[in-house]
Amino acid sequence: MNVALLDLKLQYKQYKDEILPILNEIYESQYFILGPKVAECEAAIAAYSTCEHAIGVASGTDALLIALMAENIGEGDEVITSPYTFFATAGCISRTEATPVFVDIDPDTYNIDPAQIEAKITPRTKAIIPVHLYGQMADMDPIMEIARNHKLIVIEDSAQSIGSEYNGKRSGSIGDYGCYSFFPSKNLGAFGDAGMVVTNDEAKAEQLKIFRMHGMEPKYYHKFIGGNFRIDAVQAAVVTVKLKYLDDWSDGRKENALFYNEAFADLAAKGKLFPPTALENRRHIYNQYIVRSPDRDALKSYLLDKGIGCEIYYPVPLHVQDCFKELGYVEGDMPESEKAARETLALPIFPELGNEQRDYVAATVNEFFS
Ligand SMILES: *Cc1c(COP(=O)(O)O)cnc(C)c1O
Repeated sequence: MNVALLDLKLQYKQYKDEILPILNEIYESQYFILGPKVAECEAAIAAYSTCEHAIGVASGTDALLIALMAENIGEGDEVITSPYTFFATAGCISRTEATPVFVDIDPDTYNIDPAQIEAKITPRTKAIIPVHLYGQMADMDPIMEIARNHKLIVIEDSAQSIGSEYNGKRSGSIGDYGCYSFFPSKNLGAFGDAGMVVTNDEAKAEQLKIFRMHGMEPKYYHKFIGGNFRIDAVQAAVVTVKLKYLDDWSDGRKENALFYNEAFADLAAKGKLFPPTALENRRHIYNQYIVRSPDRDALKSYLLDKGIGCEIYYPVPLHVQDCFKELGYVEGDMPESEKAARETLALPIFPELGNEQRDYVAATVNEFFS
């Protein structure tokens, strides 16, 4: 049997009849950039994220970058974040000429450890970017308290966590900014690159809109050096249609996660493989289902041989990436991130996964350890 890590074709079948006439309408209108479809999508995402404002941009990466730019963060500034994340989180900090400052993760959630943040704050620190990795939110209460005490901006990297919650609060709605990605493989994916920034602050929302259009306000008068960070109508229309399905899909992912948790309980008791930890007071949306095992590499080869898609997110933490050598970190500086990079593996969790397929995944994992 073959089981893909993610199969978007099965999902497409569910809303295909709904999206095709809308796409056709866009093609007939030839209105591609911003416009009514984007406004509709922004209103829908604002409501879903429980934020006042949503500003569509060209990717999750641009969402992070534009939030940093709108805060005038740049050379000489420091931004605290996790080294165990997708590259874009820290890449954007460097692109503004600011310096990423890494803080190790909590091994249970793979998210930034709030207890280690304060020691990294200096007079140059301007912001914290907590990443809500794999669909579960970082521990936001202590992060917000530290940020308030030190007057720091908080930019939530919500690229993997749209709809997840912390004490009933939605991902993206707690910090000053929330940044979503609609990359096709994210829980809410477009038909190309797209992203969005949400905020409850009207002045910040206005800044974001100006930066999205080359820092231009009014037309052809440039206050700032912004960029072309615009979202297009096709992506916005797809996101608007798919948003209606998102909670059902998140429920489907959770059901698969609970199934696996039970199937792996024995292995966990024997210390061979550990299912993800879903904390109380959080809604986990399982962007990924991540298991941890000291035998990760052999397990991965075994599963691939048996036709099961699996992937390592992420094999090299950012503090030891070549491009960040000048920051001066060495192996050993972020022990939990390094350990996670050695031990974690993502298994198929997508909501359309069939019962037979997930039985096969669970049986094959158990078979490897027997
Ligand atoms: C996907 C992702 C991004 C970047 O989003 P893109 O839309 O691919 O630019 C940023 N941060 C995290 C944690 C991500 O997973």
